[in-house]
Amino acid sequence: MASNAATRRLDGAVALITGATGGIGRATAARFVDEGARVVLADLDAEALSDLAAAFGPSAAWICADVTEEEQNRAAVALALERWSRIDIGVLNAGIEGRVAAIDELAPADFDRVIAVNVRGVFLGLAQLLPALRRGGGGAITITSSTAGLRGAAGLAAYTASKHAVIGLMKSAALEGAPHNIRVNTVNPAPVETRMMRSIEAGARPDDPDGAKTKFLTGIPLKRYGRPEEIAALIAFLSSDEASFCTGGIYTADGGTMAG
Ligand code: NAD
Repeated sequence: MASNAATRRLDGAVALITGATGGIGRATAARFVDEGARVVLADLDAEALSDLAAAFGPSAAWICADVTEEEQNRAAVALALERWSRIDIGVLNAGIEGRVAAIDELAPADFDRVIAVNVRGVFLGLAQLLPALRRGGGGAITITSSTAGLRGAAGLAAYTASKHAVIGLMKSAALEGAPHNIRVNTVNPAPVETRMMRSIEAGARPDDPDGAKTKFLTGIPLKRYGRPEEIAALIAFLSSDEASFCTGGIYTADGGTMAG
């Protein structure tokens, strides 16, 4: 998995990454390890976690942790402290898209599940990370929001609401963290080439997912989806001391989408 990182800005740091075996989480973990960090990988599937951790060797630990469960968030932070006696960075990235459906066709249970993972999960992660980072003298937390956190997306109301909501959580956390040298930001990608977009394309046009992708591309000035590595690069920057004056911010990586 290792490649030649231009820098090792995260040397010695310990990071918790949720949603670690998904597209963006995996690329972020790889980038972090390349830059010298040790990583706790948190996600739902033990086999995928164990395979990913094996690829990183002693720089990685893993835990099956459902972000909607308080105790499992606690256990994920505790693992970092047990293994490496510190934690410096959180990447609250676990998320689900939910069903693609109009508001009046979306079951309340579907809405609740998206909010539980995408909003409650971030709240619970912050609640564990903030005191742990405080005790360590500071750190950085990055939350994966979306361009759907900045504008509407038809058929994805729960997802859109959730990605707006985490911007509110981020802003409050940034204010609470600032006196303790803790920076908190969001990254806001446009569509990225991961499982999630394949699912959204199929949900938007079950008979023609490629047509759905073509339509999504018309809204992106660079005329392509992002690559997970391009989001990982932004998360690595925000997690590093190079971003020492960046907190409370919303950072798009969107091929120009929000300029339009
Ligand atoms: P992905 O589906 O590949 O990865 C998401 C990961 O989150 C999966 O590994 C999944 O198992 C994990 N996860 C889901 N529910 C969980 C739970 N309850 N507890 C722990 N882990 C859980 O998708 P991705 O594109 O890598 O998404 C990562 C983040 O980026 C998400 O928050 C997503 O909303 C956001 N995002 C994605 C895109 C995109 O186009 N792919 C765009 C903007 C934002």
